Amino acid sequence: MKEKYINILMNSNFESKKTSKELMKKLSDRGYNPTTTFSENAELTICIGGDGTFIRSIHKSNFSQIPMVGINTGHLGFYQEISSDKIDEFIDDYSNGNYTIEELKLIGAEVFTKNRSHILTGLNEIALKAKNSKIIHMNIYINRNHLEKFSGDGVLVATPSGSTAYNFSLRGALVHHSLEVMQLTPIAPINSAAYRSLSSSIVIPGNYIISLIPEKRYINSSLLLVDGEEFFFSGLKKINLKLSNKSIKKLIFSQDSYWNNLKSKFL
Ligand code: NAP
Ligand code: MN
Repeated sequence: MKEKYINILMNSNFESKKTSKELMKKLSDRGYNPTTTFSENAELTICIGGDGTFIRSIHKSNFSQIPMVGINTGHLGFYQEISSDKIDEFIDDYSNGNYTIEELKLIGAEVFTKNRSHILTGLNEIALKAKNSKIIHMNIYINRNHLEKFSGDGVLVATPSGSTAYNFSLRGALVHHSLEVMQLTPIAPINSAAYRSLSSSIVIPGNYIISLIPEKRYINSSLLLVDGEEFFFSGLKKINLKLSNKSIKKLIFSQDSYWNNLKSKFL
């Protein structure tokens, strides 16, 4: 049978390679057509590794609308729904249609430089910091309303599903992924006689626009982080952030898995 393609993406860990061999054999035995060369005609993409692998798979597949599911091989694996010793149950559930598809919202940034603009998209978060571990000063607007002049390491805007990542380490709130919001979280905000910055996160409607405008002396020395990857733009004047219209699709096998996951991975 030529159809029923399933994409397999993985990191290079020994455990992931071992798991993928086993998985591919089992899928073939059940009449599926697993492929490690990404096919746009696949009905499912399985990624084997940790959250980092999941995030990179989403970016590499250019936010493909093919549903994704992750098999965790060793790391935290908050996005990774299946543990590597439960492959048989997973294949049973998948082939019997015992799953639902969850949409995960993405964060979009329009980055304005002197001469042009660029679009960046993230699954966890987009952050603005100064290069070389300096302080950054920036003005922050929400729908054109001035919120604050921020001073500190930087700020981060997290999606609901990214709220358990870097945002959480910064004492941001955990936000359920069914909520269409983004969270603006300060990174080491300064509060002194010289500078005042909000020291807690703000949860903002997803269709509002957060504008970050670095002060002039940072326009050639600010650093953007998209899901942990660094981007530099010279002449960076402004960044507008909002939840993207795009989302990705992830399989879930139980409506309660979010709460089980939270408890088992963070407590
Ligand atoms: P990494 O440096 O290997 O690991 C970052 C850690 O965050 C890993 O334990 C990763 O899980 C976990 N993680 C990623 N996304 C998560 C999510 N949505 N919920 C809960 N935990 C999550 O980098 P990486 O694996 O490529 O991940 C990139 C992410 O790292 C960035 O998007 C950012 O959120 C996060 N980060 C966190 C800090 C911090 O907490 N201080 C600093 C920089 C970046 P796995 O072990 O399963 O990969
Ligand atoms: Mn990782």
